[in-house]
Order: sequence, then structure tokens, then C-alpha cells
Amino acid sequence: MERRSWSECNKPGDVMTFATLGLSEFLLRAVAARNYAEPTPVQAAAIPAILRGADVWASAQTGSGKTAAFALPLLQRLSGSRRARGRFVRSLVLVPTRELAAQIGESFRRYGASLPEPIKILTVYGGVSINPQMMALGGGADVIVATPGRLLDLVDHNAVSLSAVETLVLDEADRLFDLGFAAELTRLLGLMPADRQNLLFSATFPPAVQGLAEGLLRDPVRIDVPSAPATKPDILQRAIEVDPPRRTQLLRHLIETNGWTRVLVFLATKYATEHVAEKLRKAGIEATALHGELSQGARTRALADFKASKVQVLLATDVAARGLDIAQLPVVVNFDLPRSATDYTHRIGRTGRAGESGIAINFVSAGTHAHFRLIEKRHGLDLPREQIEGFEPEEEEVPGSATGGVKGKRKSKKDKLREATARAAAGETEAPKEKFPLGPLEPTRRFVIRRMR
Ligand code: AMP
Repeated sequence: MERRSWSECNKPGDVMTFATLGLSEFLLRAVAARNYAEPTPVQAAAIPAILRGADVWASAQTGSGKTAAFALPLLQRLSGSRRARGRFVRSLVLVPTRELAAQIGESFRRYGASLPEPIKILTVYGGVSINPQMMALGGGADVIVATPGRLLDLVDHNAVSLSAVETLVLDEADRLFDLGFAAELTRLLGLMPADRQNLLFSATFPPAVQGLAEGLLRDPVRIDVPSAPATKPDILQRAIEVDPPRRTQLLRHLIETNGWTRVLVFLATKYATEHVAEKLRKAGIEATALHGELSQGARTRALADFKASKVQVLLATDVAARGLDIAQLPVVVNFDLPRSATDYTHRIGRTGRAGESGIAINFVSAGTHAHFRLIEKRHGLDLPREQIEGFEPEEEEVPGSATGGVKGKRKSKKDKLREATARAAAGETEAPKEKFPLGPLEPTRRFVIRRMR
């Protein structure tokens, strides 16, 4: 396996520009229009590899310019060859959330707008009517950015064929390898030709998914861009002690005293996002909730309003933790702590993006101290515990419980359904067939990713 770190790609004396990476004049115009002065490390390493058709396995922090790292070379390869026809798709980008699909589709469109011939780019995800997506797929697509469930729906409706996929991108790949998506991913992989280019991008590759990634890739170029968000110097991480019932008041106090104009707050449950948003609104702060049980229209609106600064505080479940690019987001607050150290990385990675600095604040209470210490240990952190005047905690730590009182990320209904179906497919229990939107899975197909060559 070829392994490249940023320092290798950027030897002294190298003049690192987009032009030296082999991009066409049209795409050079696209990056100039975005005011990108020079390639980011992951772009410098990935673009030449993708242009020459290699598989890539990139561990790069969120906000590192991952999207352009695969979108630019893919657009170049597509524009230099025949357009898609029939029901076929040539490049497929799979992502775990609808918001991320919309964001990546938009990036492809922006970069692709400077090409001499139009490239057909479609974004498909669930929660919205399937009919317009089926209509749009007539004549195939050069690029489809999709969430796995809706893509399978479209396959089942014969609206698209994956049998001519030339390049597969898995973004936030570790999440796509989760048991929750495993059955869908296995089915999708089985519909694609074995001879294709595979590109895996993620901020984190936990050990559990490394074997799966290795099985999928053929002699990949391995790219490690250092500095995970949890240890990134431009994100100031703080731990503030507070009793749980006083967190909303403390949040309000911090927003007002610091004059924060844009804050992303993570909470453990959908109910809590709505409840705290309501309380903030009553206090005269523009706040809105973002979670998986809102209609897709409401999710899109919440995010758009937040990005457009119509809303000051976005209260979200982990649906907003993955890959979302919110420019100038100075503060992320973990109102409820994340369940895992990996989730912590993804959440705080929403701030401090593209060279900006950011603040990540963790509310820690007597019941969650032990859990937060575990997260710190995994990231080699030892944050001083702060107290804010007027909000000093009164509750005392309960000894002996590592996760005592932590409201972890609850699995969504959809994730539970996916997991139950995956278990049933492996012969463990009866599948909830009547509820599963894709119909029964293929008989006992286990989640095994074959080595392609
Ligand atoms: P991503 O990691 O793909 O979500 O990108 C994070 C942000 O970095 C996005 O707002 C991009 O527009 C921006 N970006 C991507 N590449 C560059 C670059 N070479 N120079 C400056 N900003 C960039």
C-alpha cells in the first residue's frame, strides 16, 4: 500500500498549486472562483492519485477540504469521457445523512459549472417524494450523491442501475460501515461491477472498520492528514461544570455575555432539542431544533436559516455532527456529552473549519464527569474544569460509574430498524418486514466485503 502523509506531499522546494496537481484549466477556474489559494493537504495528496485512477483511503479531519479532494478529480475524469446513458450512473457518492448529500451535491454542481460540457449531477435522499428523483434519473447520471436507503429504493423501482459505476466514493465511511447501514451497503456493493475505483474518506477510522475498508480497497493510496479536531490547536476546548437542570440558563448566559452570534448545540434527544429551543425563543434568542424526526423540508429550512444567520442557535442531535460545513461557526456546545470519543471528534469538528478558530464547550455534571474523563483519555486531553459565577454546581459526583447519568445518543427508529433487519438477515431474529421500506433483504446475505482483485 502506498502511504503518503502531508509532509511527504509537501517537500521543501515543492511549489504546491492546484495546477501542479494536474487539474484542467476549467477546474482551475472553478477553484479560483472559490478563492482557494492553494490545495489543502488532503487535496494535494488525493487529487493526483484519483486522477490516475488509484483507490484512495483518506483519514482527514472534517473541514479539511475533503469534498473538493474527490469532487475535482472526479469531475475532470468524467468531463474527459462519454456522458452517462440509459439508467446508468458513472460516479456514485454514498453518504450517511441527507444534509451531507445535499451539501456534497451542491459542491459538485459549483465546481462542475465551469466545465465546457454539462455534467449531470443528481442528489437523492429519503424523506422527500421519490417521483421527481425517478424522473430526473431518466437518461442516467454522471454523478449521483445519495444516502443508501433511498438509492436502494430507486434501484428497486428500476430507476437506476449501478452496473456501470466506475468510481465509488464513501464519505464519512466509518458511519457507512456501521451495522446500521451494513445490509444496505452490502446490497449496493453487490450491484456494482467489481472493477471500479474506490475512494474512502472519513475523519475517523475506528479499528472495527479498518478490516472492512481494507477488504474493499485495491492497493490504495493511504492518506493520513494529521491533526484530528480533538487535538487541533485552533479549537479551544473547555469543560464547564454545571448541574443538569441549570444548563439552559447557563447556555443563555454564555450566549449573552460572550455575544455569540452563531452557536451549534448538541443534545442527546429530539425532545431536548425542541424543549431547549423553545426556552431560548421565550428568552428572545432566535433558536431552532434540528433532528431526524422533522420533515425533510423542516430539516433543510433549519440548516439554511442557521447558515444564513436568520437563526442564532441551532439545537441538534447527532444528525448534524457528520461532515456539515457551516462557515464561520465559532462555537459548538455539548449540552449533553457525546456517547463516544469518535462522536466527540465529529461534533467539535463542526467548528474551527478551513483554518478558522473555534471554541468547543462541554457541559459536565456530577453524573457525567467519569464519562467525560473517558473521552478526554481517548483524545489525550486533560481539560481544566471551569465554573461560571452564579452557576456553580451543587450536585456531587457519584463514584464508581463510568457513564453514570450520561444521556447517550439514542439510536433513531430508522437505525434500530436497520439493525434489526441486519440481525435478521444474519439469522438472529425475525426481520420487521412490514416496516422495512425496501422489502425483505436477500436471503441471509452477511456483511462481507470482498477483496475485488
Ligand atoms: P470540506 O472538508 O469538504 O467540508 O470543506 C471545508 C471547507 O473548506 C469548505 O467551505 C470548502 O469550501 C473549503 N475549502 C475547500 N478547499 C479549500 C482550499 N483549497 N482553500 C480554502 N478553502 C477550501
